Amino acid sequence: MSGRVSTAKGKTGAQKSRQKYQNTFAFKPDKNNQSASKIAALPAQGLCQKCLDIIDWRKRMSKYKPLTQPKTCLACHGKKIKDAYHVLCRDCACEQNVCAKCRESTEIVISDHKPASQRLREEQEQHQLLASMSERQRRSYLRKIARGDEDGAGKIAQVAADKEDGGWSDFDDDFDEDVEDDEDDEEEEADK
Ligand SMILES: [Zn+2]
Ligand SMILES: [Zn+2]
Repeated sequence: MSGRVSTAKGKTGAQKSRQKYQNTFAFKPDKNNQSASKIAALPAQGLCQKCLDIIDWRKRMSKYKPLTQPKTCLACHGKKIKDAYHVLCRDCACEQNVCAKCRESTEIVISDHKPASQRLREEQEQHQLLASMSERQRRSYLRKIARGDEDGAGKIAQVAADKEDGGWSDFDDDFDEDVEDDEDDEEEEADK
């Protein structure tokens, strides 16, 4: 059972040497692995988009090592960091208004604090919603989302939800115009 010896201790300091052996194939995270899903649910807060992406990547590739005990904050030197890969505690990151990992970016992504289970449920709801839409609705809806037009997307979602109650036909004329507008936009983009 020599393979179970922990090497985690002492690795938190300065950067360690490079990986000795490169993997010859991509690591596939085990979907049924309990700890993997637990890790995915761990919060990553007060980070810039770049650092958030890095941490998300680590989680996806099962390279995320959660902290076993609070880490020392580089600013206030308190043992207050509970999230792995962060170098500032939440208070200091907020106070300095910088990313809690790279300490450079001030473009902090507002973490919505949603647990993974809730996000999953919302994704499923979204899928159901899309499935209930007509092809045309779906295209328009996705385009509005991509543009950040939440009101427009919400309107379409509402129409799709009301469809069974007979609310759909009233809206149909408006909707055609909407779609035509969108398609014009696309042609303009293509001309560039
Ligand atoms: Zn601090
Ligand atoms: Zn950052």
